[in-house]
Formats: sequence, structure tokens, C-alpha cells
Amino acid sequence: MLKDYKGACHIHTEYSGAGIRIPDVITSAQEVGLDFVILSDHNTFLPKQDGWEGWHDNLLVIIGMEASPIRDGHFLTLDPNPLTDSGYVYRRKYKNMTSVECLDDVLCSGGTTFIVHPLGKRKWSFIVNVEAWRNWEHTGFVGIEIWAYMHDWIDDLKLSNLWHFYKNPNLQLKGPDPELLSLWDQLGQKRKVVGISGLDAHYKEIPLIKRPLFAYKDLFKTIRTHILVEHELSKSDDAVRLVCDAHKEGRCYVSFDLLADATGFHFTAESGDKMYYMGDEVFNIETNIDFNISSPHHATIKLLRNGKTQRECEGNSLDFSSTEKGVYRVEAYIENRPWVFTNPIYVR
Ligand SMILES: [Zn+2]
Ligand SMILES: [Zn+2]
Repeated sequence: MLKDYKGACHIHTEYSGAGIRIPDVITSAQEVGLDFVILSDHNTFLPKQDGWEGWHDNLLVIIGMEASPIRDGHFLTLDPNPLTDSGYVYRRKYKNMTSVECLDDVLCSGGTTFIVHPLGKRKWSFIVNVEAWRNWEHTGFVGIEIWAYMHDWIDDLKLSNLWHFYKNPNLQLKGPDPELLSLWDQLGQKRKVVGISGLDAHYKEIPLIKRPLFAYKDLFKTIRTHILVEHELSKSDDAVRLVCDAHKEGRCYVSFDLLADATGFHFTAESGDKMYYMGDEVFNIETNIDFNISSPHHATIKLLRNGKTQRECEGNSLDFSSTEKGVYRVEAYIENRPWVFTNPIYVR
């Protein structure tokens, strides 16, 4: 039985202009019971050099980096050993490089990469201009951010509804962009592409009232990535590596835990005497493959194959048997609100 740990990813700190120090990020995450956080400051691994990576009581802090060229797409790098090359700590030069140049540079150092906010975003009235990823033919990235809090929240934001969005931020979330999910399904038919969540949180205090636009303690209750691992993280010396590997292998799912904590959500497949988990690739099945989904909460559960719903039910479980190849993944909704998005099991 794999163990389920929940964490928040794609978080900025004072190392890249957010108005929050790492000790306060850590306290916020501990207060809401996260197991891990992945920090990703722009173009720097400096927090790792400063010793922030590792255990802080029951919270594991992992220092990633967001490669952020000014005029090109961005990606998150997870690399448990970036300090093997001391020049890696600062990547200020990434600002003026193309994203492919940055990606190739990271790959030379053995980094694992996830494209973040892949579709980009333009909101001139809010000075938001985030470039989309344009290099989908490049196979150097391991996965993509399928659901990012700030990019979902800002999607329908206008000056006229700003106050309403500020007062009720979580009600504005619509779930992963259908265009992005469709792209993910297409990519998955060619090779494994992992889906992870992000917050893209940049703590900013609002002048005069001195309250943050988004308190990290509130954000950390929302969109999370759950990882599945064989070992107890808290007892492992190699916990950073285990969390990074689970992300790299796609042994993880994304959930909006504010609706209900998804811990224990289960999606496996069996063929012959073998068991497969999220992120696994199954080759040349000779008999049926039997999918099993179970949910810790009552939900609308959908099993999709290549982006199309194969079976849908209301309840706590769903079973489905197939002989067809394809990319199988699960979506779950609670009262029509998006809740869980699993990584696929790939039947090749
Ligand atoms: Zn970015
Ligand atoms: Zn970011």
C-alpha cells in the first residue's frame, strides 16, 4: 500500500520579490498540515545554498527554481543536487535567454523540469503578461502544471469584479483549463507527461490596509499535489529525493483539498498478476486491464481514455475493464466543482 503525502508547489518567497520570508512560508504550511512544500523562486537556487531545504519539524521543504526568461515560457526545475555545479545557484542569465536555451542548460545539469502556466496569460489591466510555452516538440521536460491557483483565479478577473474576486477567491476557481487538459491528453499519447499542481503565489501586501492579497496559509488549503510513495517520508534520509522522484514518475495526483481532503484517493489497474499505479506505463497487455478507483468522499468520478469519458458514476468507487490501449486518467467532482485530477496509467 502506497503512502499519500500532500504538498503545495510553485511558491515564491523574498528571494524573488514576494513579500514573505521563508520562515513565514514554513509556519503557514505547518499550520495547515502540509507534508511538503516546493519553493520555486525565479532564476535562483539561493535558498538551497542558504540551507532552507530539508525537514522543519514535520514539514519537508524542497527548493526548486522557476526558470523565467522575460519573453518566453517558464518552467519549474526540481533537482535534488543543483549545488554540484556552484554556478547553478544563480541563473540570472536565464532572464535574457530563450526557454529552450534554459531548458537545455538545466538538462545538462541533470534537472527535472515541468512547464508552468503552459498557456500563458495576458491581462493588460492588471499588468499581467505571462508568455505561453511554445516548444512542445522539445522532449526535455517531464511534465506540466495542469492547474495553477493564480492563473485560474485571474482568468475571469476584471476591474468591475475585482472586489468580489478579492472577497471570495476560492469561488472563482473553475478547474484546469479544458484546452490544457486536451493538450495534456494529446501529449500523453506520444510519451508520458506528468501533471502537477501549482499556486504561483507571490505574496503581496495591499498598500494602506497592509493585508496580503493572498495569505499563504489560505492558499495552502487549496490546490495541492498528493504524491504516492512506498516509504514513510518522515523516517527517510532521502525524503527530498523520494518527493522529487514521485513527481518525476507521475506517481501523484492534483486535488482541490478545500472541498475535501483527497488523501487516500486511489486509482490503480491490474492485468494478469501485476498492479499498476498512476504514472505507470503498461506495455503489450495480453488480457483485460481492470481499473479500480476509490474515493475517500462521495463524488462524481469519471474515467477518461485519451480525453474522452469511458465511464462515469456517482459514489465512492468505480471499476472498469478494457482491452483497449490508451491514456487512462481520472477526474472527480464534488457538487460539480473540480476536485481531483490524477496522473494517467498509460496502456501502450
Ligand atoms: Zn512564471
Ligand atoms: Zn511563478
